[in-house]
Amino acid sequence: MSIYSENLEKKRIAEDNLRRKFSLLDDLKKVVPWRMEIESRDSKSALKAMTCMTFSIEKDSNLRVVKAPDSGMPGWKGFNVCNSVFLCAICSSRERAERANRLKRCIAQHELNGGIVLMMTLTAPHTRDDGLKLTRGALKSASRSLGDSKIFRRLRIESGLIGVVRAWEETFAHANGWHPHSHQLLFLDAGIDAGHLRGQIFKVWKKLCLKNGLMKPEEFTRESDGSLKGLGVNIQEGNAVANYLMKSEELETRSQSEGLAYELTAGDQKIGKKGSFLPFDILRLAAKDIDLKKRGLPAQNAWALPVFLEYVEATFGTRMVTGLTALEGKLEVQQTVEEVDQEREEYEASLLVLAVFDRFKVKEIVHLKLRFEVLAWLGKDMSQKEVEDIINRMIAKSDIPIKQFEKVLL
Ligand SMILES: [Zn+2]
Repeated sequence: MSIYSENLEKKRIAEDNLRRKFSLLDDLKKVVPWRMEIESRDSKSALKAMTCMTFSIEKDSNLRVVKAPDSGMPGWKGFNVCNSVFLCAICSSRERAERANRLKRCIAQHELNGGIVLMMTLTAPHTRDDGLKLTRGALKSASRSLGDSKIFRRLRIESGLIGVVRAWEETFAHANGWHPHSHQLLFLDAGIDAGHLRGQIFKVWKKLCLKNGLMKPEEFTRESDGSLKGLGVNIQEGNAVANYLMKSEELETRSQSEGLAYELTAGDQKIGKKGSFLPFDILRLAAKDIDLKKRGLPAQNAWALPVFLEYVEATFGTRMVTGLTALEGKLEVQQTVEEVDQEREEYEASLLVLAVFDRFKVKEIVHLKLRFEVLAWLGKDMSQKEVEDIINRMIAKSDIPIKQFEKVLL
C-alpha cells in the first residue's frame, strides 16, 4: 500500500470511528427516556450522558472546530461533556485514550526500573438468569479479597508488586447472559514464573468466588488449536499488555471493527466471532428497534433494550478503572499541575482553528443532528461559509434528509 493510500485509509477509519461515536450518542438519546420512566438515581446519570455535547460550557461563548496537526479528523472545542465512560461513546473514547497514555508512561517507567507487567484476567461462570448488578458486585468483592489475600501480600514482599491497575468490562451473550470480567495489570519484579503464579492464584480465586456467591470457576478452557488456556484466572505477558492498551485507546467496538461493529452498522444481525456483544453494540440494536417501533414495524432485537437498561443500572456510581493514580504515585510518573498546564498550552497553540460558530448556529447544528457532519465537511476542506450555507438551507427545508444534501453539495 502506498503512503498516499495508507493515509487515505487512516483518514477513512478516523472518520468512520467518529461517525460511529456521534451516532451512538444519538442512540443513547433514543434509549435513555425508557430508563427515565423508572424513578431512580441512575436515570439522572443517564440523563447527563444524553445531553453530552449540546451546549457551550461557557455561557454565550462561541464554539470552535479545531484540528490537531497529527489528527485525521477535526474536533469540537467548547461543548459540555458528560464524562460517562459507560454510556457515552465520545467521553468513553476520550477517557480510554487518556488512560492508555497514563498506563504507557507507567509501564515504560516500570520496565526502565527493571520490572515486568503481567496481565491477569479474572472471570467466574454465570447463566442467563444472573443479573449483571449482582454478578458484577460479587466479582468485585472477590477481586478485592484477592488483593488482600496472603498470596498478594507475599507478591508485594517477595516479588516487588508495587501496584495493580484493575479494569472492569462487560460483554453479553445469549447463551450465558452478562459476562463481567476484570483485566488487571500487575507491576512486579522480573523473573516470576507466570504459569506457577496462575495456578496459585486460581486456588484462592476459586474459594473467593464460592464465598461471594458465584459459581465455581473452571481452571482451564480448551482453545480451538487444542491448547489449554487459563479460564477463571488467566495470566499473560508482553504482547497481551500491548494489545490491551491498543484496545483501550479506542472505543471498544474498534477492536472488533472488521467484524461486529461493521456488521451492525450495515444492518446485519450476525453476531461477533465469539457470539458476544459489547455494551455499545447492544445500545445500537436497542436504538434501531425504537426507530422501527416509531415506524410501526416489529422489533428485531427485543432483548437489547432491557439488557442495555440493566447495564445502565448496574454500572451506575461504579468505576471502570482503579489503582492507576496510586501506581503513578509509586512510580513517580504523575504530572505536576504545572506540567499538565504547560502540555495543555502547547497543545492548544498547535491547534488549527477551522471554524468558529456562535451559540445560535450551534443550536441549529445540534438540532439538525449535524455535529459529526460539520466536522466531516470542514475536514474535507469546506469553508465555514459553505457549511453555514448548508445549515441555513436545511433549516429552511428541514424535512430534507441530510444524505440528500451531501449528495447535492459535495
Ligand atoms: Zn459524553
